[in-house]
Amino acid sequence: MVFGFVMMGDKSRKGIHKIAVLSLGMAARQRVLRSLFLLCVALGLAGQLPAAQAPGAPPLELEYTLRVSRPTTHLAEVEILARKVEAANLDFVLPAWAPGRYAIYDFAKNVQEFSAQGANRQSLSWIKLDKQTWRVDVREAGGTVRANYRVFANDLSGSFSQVDSTHANLNGPSIFMYVEGHKPDPITLTIQAPDQWKVISGFSMSTMDRSFHAPDYDVLVDTPLEISSECTLDQFEEQGKTILVALHTYGEGDNDRSPLLEGLKKLVHAEMAAMPLPDLQHYLFVFHFAPDVSLGDGMEHLNSTQIIIRGNVREGSQEALESAAHEFFHLWNVKRLRPAALGPFGYTQENYTRSLWFAEGVTTYYGYLFLLRAGLWTREQFLSHLANEVYDLEREPGREVMSAESSSFHAWFFDRSPQMQETNFANATISYYNKGALLAMLLDLEIRARTHGRKSLLDVVQAMYHKFYEAPAASYYGAGRGYDEEDIMQAMRAVTGSDFTSFFDRYVRGTDALPYEETLKLAGLEVRASAPPDAAPSLGAAVQPENQGARIFAVLPGGPADRAGLSRDDLLLDVDDQSLATEDLSTRLRAYPVGANVPMTVQRHGRRERVTVTLGPPIRSQYSIVRMSSPTPEQEAVQKDWLGMP
Ligand SMILES: [Zn+2]
Ligand SMILES: [Zn+2]
Repeated sequence: MVFGFVMMGDKSRKGIHKIAVLSLGMAARQRVLRSLFLLCVALGLAGQLPAAQAPGAPPLELEYTLRVSRPTTHLAEVEILARKVEAANLDFVLPAWAPGRYAIYDFAKNVQEFSAQGANRQSLSWIKLDKQTWRVDVREAGGTVRANYRVFANDLSGSFSQVDSTHANLNGPSIFMYVEGHKPDPITLTIQAPDQWKVISGFSMSTMDRSFHAPDYDVLVDTPLEISSECTLDQFEEQGKTILVALHTYGEGDNDRSPLLEGLKKLVHAEMAAMPLPDLQHYLFVFHFAPDVSLGDGMEHLNSTQIIIRGNVREGSQEALESAAHEFFHLWNVKRLRPAALGPFGYTQENYTRSLWFAEGVTTYYGYLFLLRAGLWTREQFLSHLANEVYDLEREPGREVMSAESSSFHAWFFDRSPQMQETNFANATISYYNKGALLAMLLDLEIRARTHGRKSLLDVVQAMYHKFYEAPAASYYGAGRGYDEEDIMQAMRAVTGSDFTSFFDRYVRGTDALPYEETLKLAGLEVRASAPPDAAPSLGAAVQPENQGARIFAVLPGGPADRAGLSRDDLLLDVDDQSLATEDLSTRLRAYPVGANVPMTVQRHGRRERVTVTLGPPIRSQYSIVRMSSPTPEQEAVQKDWLGMP
């Protein structure tokens, strides 16, 4: 189930090879099998070859040590000590990705100086089996194997790690290898870092602890570590649980934590009051405020989250709270109630699910709703964020070709993935966060209306939490079991007593236009869209200014530029012989009425061409959700229930 897609592909490949192998003699068959083995290695399919140690092998005693001795080198040193080794080989594997970010990053590219020793410190030989697997020959190890390596880490993000003079901020999958066949085995982790550095993580509430216990590898790497002397730590209680707040800022004198802490108290209170009491003793927020990161980030974990804000505490606390609202809700949705493909994880390759729209979109929606419930947003701010989500989807041409399920499935192509080739993502994809949040809004209102206010989408999330997370454990990975795509629709039916098949067919699996108008009407609301008063007629292309003119980087399918034969990468040099080297394109286009035929000079592959574009109406970029003028009492009731009292 976890690797459904990959297995299907692999099966068909095997089927073809099988025919070839059967028609050959024994020696030739062995040659073919060996070359198949090498082919599989080359294709990165080694995970499906016979493992060095079969699953279900007797557990190892695993002790991990992490050393940060020279932080300015950005190198972390890792030692993995395995005792009770009985196999002939041990495979040490570093993940290719980190759960929560659906992108293949190949963390192994930053590993150096791998070595292995046996019980008497004798060197053990090893080979690299594939890009991320080190196979150690342990026949002469004497039952004890010590693997050492260093890993370079200099990215402050929710997926990578950073070791520098200010801290070691570590996300486990980018640092810690696992022993193949032994992910379920318990692990002891010891940290060796400069004396004055505190160790902050979901493992312990004390910053003095240096030794930790994880029940298995998955928990080890789902517990990020912040090791630093600069980080502050505050705490408060909510429903008998301790909430820890670590904060590391690079701003000078940027120490006023109270707006963030006060906001977090309200937020945590609102979410915990509405959701089942989670099975954790403490929960840790780790905030970084860094002016020099290229992108902010937020990443959910079992009992903690990492939130990185580009900026300082003074200006970034509101943004930090908005991220916290989302990440804290993940503690229920995705870290516990989870798609079947997301835990236990296959760390060496993509783990496909069609449900990220639910895992991420529903979380985005409830992040918004709890900011409203906690009093951190007004109703106007809440509706304005939803209206922006509507605009974000409506301006995506990809909404007509990619469904929410397909966007979830193909996350591996675009969830902060590096792109080495030109893509048409601008016109052919949508975000499962964005469409998922809108689907959640529509489902919530639909459920409220269909049940006359007795139920909401939150009842569905909670019912699923009880049914799947509180079920008997299906594997070593945490409690409960994962859900399948079909289970979401069944839960809707079970909670509301009505059928959502058509909704799912059209809007979740299909690409029908979302029914904002009729659904918001159920709550006495409507969407308004308009162009800004001074907006220029539209060209139907997105451009970036360059020295000589404006470079087109996206063309709207069916829009004015597309109809005129303009193309991505074209450089617009002039409009009506007026150079775009000194004048902005939209300023220039304001001189024309809608429908005007405007000649332009375009440079393509270094050659000049003349093109005439018929300008379209200005883009409607201002979206709002507002109250209808005279709602019925029933519409008023849904609205009041949804948004709370004025
Ligand atoms: Zn830090
Ligand atoms: Zn999320």
